[in-house]
Amino acid sequence: MNPTLDLYSLLRDELSQLFISWEFSPVHAARVWRYLYWECIDSLDGMQDLPPRVLRKLKEEAFLGSLPTALETRSSDGFTRKYLLNLPEDRKIETVLMRYTGRVTACISSQAGCAMGCVFCATGQMGFSRHLTTGEIVAQAVHVQRILRTQPGEHGDSQRLRNIVLMGMGEPLHNYDAVIKAIDIFRDSAGLSLSGDRITLSTVGVVPGILRLAKEKKLLHLAVSLHAATQEGRAALVPAAKKWPLSELMAACQTYSEATGKRIFYEWTLIEGKNDSEEDARAVGRLLGKMPAQVNLIPLNPTQGYAGTASRSESARRFQNILADEFSIPSTVRQRRGIDIAAGCGQLAVNA
Ligand code: SAH
Ligand code: SF4
Repeated sequence: MNPTLDLYSLLRDELSQLFISWEFSPVHAARVWRYLYWECIDSLDGMQDLPPRVLRKLKEEAFLGSLPTALETRSSDGFTRKYLLNLPEDRKIETVLMRYTGRVTACISSQAGCAMGCVFCATGQMGFSRHLTTGEIVAQAVHVQRILRTQPGEHGDSQRLRNIVLMGMGEPLHNYDAVIKAIDIFRDSAGLSLSGDRITLSTVGVVPGILRLAKEKKLLHLAVSLHAATQEGRAALVPAAKKWPLSELMAACQTYSEATGKRIFYEWTLIEGKNDSEEDARAVGRLLGKMPAQVNLIPLNPTQGYAGTASRSESARRFQNILADEFSIPSTVRQRRGIDIAAGCGQLAVNA
């Protein structure tokens, strides 16, 4: 029978306990952990200096859930690479590596497809296939780290993965346990060793998930996809708003900020003529009020299933000025990267 235990799904302590239960020294577990997250081997056979009896037992009981690359595409500006990765069944997910000056970021998927159905999002347009396991989420980060180790950048610089955004396919708080365990594995200081400060989880506004993050005080940055400042306007773009209305969402955000002392990033996809007017900017300003907030404006990226277009840069600038001058709310306009390979926000979709 094939082993069912994915090594990428284990915390370091769990791996250690497993070795103890097999009556092996935890020293071997520590060596395996380094193979997984420092050397980023892609097959158990790469663990060459494990004693043969240890490797044999490991192969009998566990597997390495590396996700093979079905397709790699590179953006023309050389900064973005998109990996189509194969899941064990005949499904695929997408992981994006963004490499700008001194900043390497992996955009990671949490589900195959998404159940939330936001009208302008390619992943929402394809529907929900299934949740990813912790191992499948971790395997994406290891994939990116392996690429960084083996393929230096344009200037010959080999970099370490330092930032993770859970903004790929899927709604991370709809798959809470698997995602949070993956984040704990990302943060392990003897592994990928990512700082919680450099992990951002973006949610469509799953209220129970936000409240749970607040209670558990998870070390990460929270981004909430807002897109509209009225319940009616938001529900038209984000069907999940019917289940978790704007008033409940804002109350959960307040609770989160109070419990963690952290500001929240609010994402706002700018759609021309839809949510980019001066009045829209003032409505966001009033909604966020005195809450600790930063607004990330994302000019709409094109997708097949939605006819809207991106706001012009003047509208984005006007929006920013109103937030800054009238409400003292900082904001950024997300740079458009990877659009030519459909690796921009909301463009990830796989016909599988
Ligand atoms: N499910 C999570 C995270 C993935 S989407 C969420 O919705 O927050 C990451 C961000 O991209 C979200 O803010 C989402 O609203 C935005 N987005 C989706 N489709 C987009 C598109 N076509 N153009 C620009 N941004 C988009
Ligand atoms: Fe799902 Fe996020 Fe896309 Fe909405 S924007 S459909 S929540 S991935």
